Amino acid sequence: MYNFGDCMTSYIDPYEEAKKQLRSTVELLGLGYDVYEALATPERVIQVKIPVRMDDGSVKVFIGWRSQHNSALGPYKGGIRYHPDVTMNEVIALSMWMTWKCSLAGLPYGGGKGGVRVDPKRLSIRELERLSRGYFAALAEYLGVDLDIPAPDVYTNPQVMAWYFDEFSRIKGGLYYGVVTGKPVEIGGLEARIYSTGLGVAISAREAAKKLLGGIEGRTVAIQGFGNVGYYAAKFLEEMGAIVVAISDSRGGIFNPRGLNVGEVISVKEKTGTVVNYDKAEKKITNEEILELKVDVLIPAAIENVITEANARNIKAKIIVEGANGPTTVEAERMLTEAGVIIAPDILANAGGVIMSHIEWVNNRIGGWITEEEARRKLEEKMIASFNNTWNFWESKLDKTRHNLRAAAYAVAVDRVVKAMKLRGQL
Ligand code: GLU
Repeated sequence: MYNFGDCMTSYIDPYEEAKKQLRSTVELLGLGYDVYEALATPERVIQVKIPVRMDDGSVKVFIGWRSQHNSALGPYKGGIRYHPDVTMNEVIALSMWMTWKCSLAGLPYGGGKGGVRVDPKRLSIRELERLSRGYFAALAEYLGVDLDIPAPDVYTNPQVMAWYFDEFSRIKGGLYYGVVTGKPVEIGGLEARIYSTGLGVAISAREAAKKLLGGIEGRTVAIQGFGNVGYYAAKFLEEMGAIVVAISDSRGGIFNPRGLNVGEVISVKEKTGTVVNYDKAEKKITNEEILELKVDVLIPAAIENVITEANARNIKAKIIVEGANGPTTVEAERMLTEAGVIIAPDILANAGGVIMSHIEWVNNRIGGWITEEEARRKLEEKMIASFNNTWNFWESKLDKTRHNLRAAAYAVAVDRVVKAMKLRGQL
């Protein structure tokens, strides 16, 4: 599991952070407290008990949640994470961020998120299957192609999505491909989904570097987290000509000022379980040190609350591109904004995954028509449009010494949700 040492000593509640962000956006847009209240409260939060028959014959109970934050723009959409530390408030915060992410990307979706408190690395494959089926079965009445559409998140993958799809279809009788996205290609998934979040992060970094540094080529990048998001972000940035100088995973990191070979690093991780065993790096670094390197672009792509007031002053990157959800606290962002660091926020930078999920869902509903090239082109177009939309709002409407790009992204996203709620008589 991730170990971020000192950064995690005082617990920061992600839901409180999410509400602070919402509150300042509501104020920025000149909206009333009623709007804040309506948006701060999730529409529904479901907690389920999941008893799982373990391989040794015993029964172990797990707890899971699904938070359905807002459906003004469409069915709830968002991933499900398996993590030993997941809490209900974290899931609620993540569901609120999904509402803004889908809105900013112009998707016809609301926001949702799920979580199961489990360390999946300690389960056998069959136990994981029983847990996944049990979780989905317990929630089945609240999910649906036009109601709530889960997807992968931290430590869940296409195989887990396949079990979800199968379980839901079994319960309801029929084949409901559109009830979950991020599926394997054999059962309605798109090849591009697996790399789409990472590609979107790389595109955001490239667009930000174009505006601020004259381009991404030759620029140095540090990436914290080498899961699905971090790996593909590194791979695409390397292809774009950036120099990936540092990479870390839950066990630690590696640094080489002349650049790491991303393909070699991933094969070492696949073979030995961690990037730390890559022997062509100049030195090993910790997960705290990677955040404080003197690089052009820093990409936190692991978990929440790693950039806090405790380390914000030590950050030397010019641009932060948030691959993870919620990696920067509100107070840290205030300090970074004052220092002139530009942040491409999570709801913008990591939207590639849900954008591709939407393409997959549409494709499922029209019976499979979209080609991989079309899917990838649409993703690139949407990421660039969202980036420019956010950037233009920020440049033309906000005081850049006080507000970062997040304020612009939130303003655009919240405004769209508020308009939909007003039209529907919910506000
Ligand atoms: N879990 C991803 C996210 O945080 C993807 C969600 C989706 O595809 O629905 O954006």
